[in-house]
Amino acid sequence: SPVLSVDKLSYRYPNGQTALSEISFDIQPGERIGLVGPNGAGKTTLLLHLNGLLPGHDLPVADGQSAEATYPVRVSGLPALQKNLPAIRQHVGFLFQDPDDQLFCSTVREDVAFGPLNLGLSREEVLQRVATQLAAMGLTDVENRSTMQLSFGERKRVCLAGILACQPDVLALDEPSSNLDPRARRGFMRLLEDCPAAQLIASHDLELILDLCTRVMVLDRGRIQADGEPATIFSNQ
Ligand code: ADP
Ligand code: ADP
Repeated sequence: SPVLSVDKLSYRYPNGQTALSEISFDIQPGERIGLVGPNGAGKTTLLLHLNGLLPGHDLPVADGQSAEATYPVRVSGLPALQKNLPAIRQHVGFLFQDPDDQLFCSTVREDVAFGPLNLGLSREEVLQRVATQLAAMGLTDVENRSTMQLSFGERKRVCLAGILACQPDVLALDEPSSNLDPRARRGFMRLLEDCPAAQLIASHDLELILDLCTRVMVLDRGRIQADGEPATIFSNQ
């Protein structure tokens, strides 16, 4: 069964701007999906819905039906509503385009530990997960540094380490390769390739998508215009 399902999701920002119109799709365990489309298509808005980062959508529902029963985004069956956020964030990791949007501790190690500490794991378990991720990301030597002393590529790896330390089954990634130099980009792609979680990757980097993804969704003006194998999708663009 899918790890994440979206069933007729529509979203309008408070200013009236429609960003998503009747979006439906499922993500199977371990699947890596590229999300492409022009600026303003709705990619970021869609990713934010996957882990309840747009709580404005907790609207009352007509006719005695609860939001719980009708909410269009479900993670392992659980609606991605504000009140379920702790559980949802355990299942879905969100990698922001700009690492500085998610780094706020004083050292690399503390930033990586922040997520797992919030899961209420034992101290031993947290230490073990943090050490594992620091090693996997090549960050052990800088674990006591401030993230402000690191390169952009390194800060991005700190963010990924913190997310993976929570062992999510879905990752939502917003432009993961942007602003990385070619070597850092290749390294980051290999880290994503090695990660067992299902991934929804919003990107303009077609080479990355062809390399990593077995499925591509094309978003335009808030609607899914195509959903299929990369070779088929890109030959029709
Ligand atoms: P993409 O990530 O594909 O560039 P976005 O999800 O950022 O697209 O934007 C989708 C639409 O929603 C666009 O028309 C954009 O202008 C609008 N939008 C995005 N964020 C906001 C916001 N905070 N308030 C109002 N409109 C927004
Ligand atoms: P930058 O943003 O400066 O390009 P990089 O991603 O190239 O940062 O990495 C900076 C340092 O970390 C380099 O010395 C690089 O060799 C090392 N490094 C990069 N990725 C890994 C990795 N996955 N494991 C171990 N070391 C790595």
